[in-house]
Amino acid sequence: MKLVSRSEWGAADPTGSYTRISSTRGVKIHYEGSPVPDALLADHDRCAGHVRAIQASHMANRDEGWIDIAYSFVVCPHGYVHEGRGLGHRNGANGNSALNAGHYAVCAMVGTSGITSPTDALLDGLVDAIEYCRSEGGAGGEVRGHRDGYATDCPGDDLYAWVQRGAPRPEGGGGAQPAPQPSGEGAGVYTVQPGDTLSALAGRFETSVTQLVTLNGISDPDLIQVGQQLQIPAPPFPGREFFVLGAHSPYAKQLQTWLQAGDWGPAYRVGPSEDMESLDLEKVAALQEHYVDDLGPADGLTGPVTWLYAYQTAHGLRAR
Ligand SMILES: [Zn+2]
Ligand SMILES: [Zn+2]
Repeated sequence: MKLVSRSEWGAADPTGSYTRISSTRGVKIHYEGSPVPDALLADHDRCAGHVRAIQASHMANRDEGWIDIAYSFVVCPHGYVHEGRGLGHRNGANGNSALNAGHYAVCAMVGTSGITSPTDALLDGLVDAIEYCRSEGGAGGEVRGHRDGYATDCPGDDLYAWVQRGAPRPEGGGGAQPAPQPSGEGAGVYTVQPGDTLSALAGRFETSVTQLVTLNGISDPDLIQVGQQLQIPAPPFPGREFFVLGAHSPYAKQLQTWLQAGDWGPAYRVGPSEDMESLDLEKVAALQEHYVDDLGPADGLTGPVTWLYAYQTAHGLRAR
């Protein structure tokens, strides 16, 4: 990790003492939510000054009464991780004291104009910061956006989508949560039937018209032909941690819905839910047992290929 200490970026001293914390549930990702100059991109030498400006504006904010920069860390477009309040200290950025103690706050130099989307180096730096919070700062496994738990646009749509994908490293190299596997060739091929519309197919295959149009190079969405073969994409794999026993998320319900549609394992008494329970792992194991050459061992744990097969078998895209 390319850590830039407070003295290296020229931090002013805090005007009060930090509240100490020994652990958090994880990390929340922020963006600046204001213009971030493009000029930073070409010149890392400017980044320290930019962090000093953030600190100065925070410490001048009388409404908040901040004693220091509010963030735990700030990551620049070149992937450098600038130490803010650092590890073991409650931050001031997540919305209120409970939220600030619950997660470290890592801010990306991304804003509302100028630099509006993260560079690959910045995403790498965010993952470095997340892993550092975990290994040295007692952070738990959660990676969330500022908007999770507080009414704000932060961290912007691009970074929030990245958080929702499980905060992977770019190029799939590891990731704070296991990196989603690209669906690659797509989940399968569908032959257009009479009466099909692209929007109906998008609904049926849990994708979007835009994705179908892009993936298939369709010039006019109203003009799909009967007999035409369409590539169908699988929803991106969110990460293994969402499918372990006891995990709770909308992804659990999505997977369970597919397992139910594919009629794998013991039937549900109630139905799919957002909780991963032992019955769900049995259903996963039943799917894995059926395709044991591809998905074995049948341990009930869901990785990207099991996720793909569950999707395909629920949607008639893979032979049984
Ligand atoms: Zn924020
Ligand atoms: Zn930089």
